[in-house]
Amino acid sequence: MKYSKMKGFRDIFGEDIEYWQYVESKLKSLFTSYGFKEFRLPILEKTALFNRGIGDTTDIVEKEMFSFEDKDGEFVSLRPEGTASLLRAYIENGLINNGVKKFYYLGNMFRRERPQKGRFRQFTQIGVEVLESSSALLDAEIASLLYNSAKVLELENIVELEINSLGCKECRPDYNELLIAYFKNIKDELCGDCNRRLERNPLRILDCKNENCKKLIKDAPVMLDNLCCECSDHFSQVKKHLNEMNIPYKINPFMVRGLDYYIRTAFELVTTMLGSASAVGAGGRYDGLIKTLGGSKDTAGIGFAIGVDRLVEILQQSKKIPIRQTDYFIVCFENTLEHGLKIVKSLREKGFIVEYDYDQSSMKSQMKKSNKLDAKFSVIIGEDEVNSLEVTIKDMLSGYQKRVSISDLCAINRD
Ligand code: ATP
Ligand code: MG
Repeated sequence: MKYSKMKGFRDIFGEDIEYWQYVESKLKSLFTSYGFKEFRLPILEKTALFNRGIGDTTDIVEKEMFSFEDKDGEFVSLRPEGTASLLRAYIENGLINNGVKKFYYLGNMFRRERPQKGRFRQFTQIGVEVLESSSALLDAEIASLLYNSAKVLELENIVELEINSLGCKECRPDYNELLIAYFKNIKDELCGDCNRRLERNPLRILDCKNENCKKLIKDAPVMLDNLCCECSDHFSQVKKHLNEMNIPYKINPFMVRGLDYYIRTAFELVTTMLGSASAVGAGGRYDGLIKTLGGSKDTAGIGFAIGVDRLVEILQQSKKIPIRQTDYFIVCFENTLEHGLKIVKSLREKGFIVEYDYDQSSMKSQMKKSNKLDAKFSVIIGEDEVNSLEVTIKDMLSGYQKRVSISDLCAINRD
């Protein structure tokens, strides 16, 4: 019996994993430098949390969740995103109402979509959330952090930061009416999904990926022309601060987010390198969501999530990253093993990558193994070397070899 993985799920290993670790460590240190603290969240949550937190009429809740009834009759889902879980944890752990909080998370998300380039059923997001401030300066800081996430990977030339304002509960309802009026007139030309959206959540039509719908959307009224004074003012401040921060951006009046809870500033980091899955990361402001999820007061919040799979993909397409190779392969034999292991230990403690042969095979075979591991140096420890307290070190690229004292070898520090 041969087993295979499920559609849309992946095994990640080999050279790919080097890129994953590189991206994750660069982003973790970037977020840490902005004062974010890591938050680890469960992968399985009660389904009701996502229905409420993401919105009943979103694509995610309507058709993309991996949900099932647990043995005790509880309805549970693999998390499709991190914000609802983080806010649940924030409320549940009594962190509310204590000043600005900044968290980041990294982990797998699950959505039952049609797998294609940049779109999987299990994927990884790294995201941030900031709670308890509605300042426009914070919106600019978070949008700039999203942009800088590409910049630390030297990908700023192949991404673009797009921003928009989605209004608030004061101005969005009137705008919704305008949208409904516009799309009702051309109802027959819209796809089936959009016809349903028109009834339940008209704003979502603007996010339709259908080519014909995209053409019809071009002439639709936009939220930016219909913002209330407060939202308009807030958006001007965000733009001003982004300019002060020297962050390039483009205004995209048609950008809406896939999740229901966003108000005011929304932003996306997009690229043309991934076909139709063009967003590398996205986020926005969600003041009020905490209250919706059972928080005790109207707490402000803003955040974004980056699709690590997509970021890795564009990084692999654009540049080679430094990959660490084995530094030393220690060649030793039954009677010199004890000595060899001391040298292995000492070099590993200095931070070198050190390997040796677990099968203790012949000299020829050990040199082959060293070659196969692409080691920079082989260190040969024979009986006469032990007696003279020396080793033979061979540069595997040039083939040059010389004898050095064991103490000199063990005194080498990693640069
Ligand atoms: P899209 O419009 O591409 O479906 P989305 O609006 O559903 O994206 P979000 O929910 O905002 O995406 O998630 C944030 C990021 O997570 C996206 O910008 C993307 O990089 C990544 N992402 C979302 N869904 C997937 C997926 N199925 N596979 C891989 N990455 C994904
Ligand atoms: Mg989606």
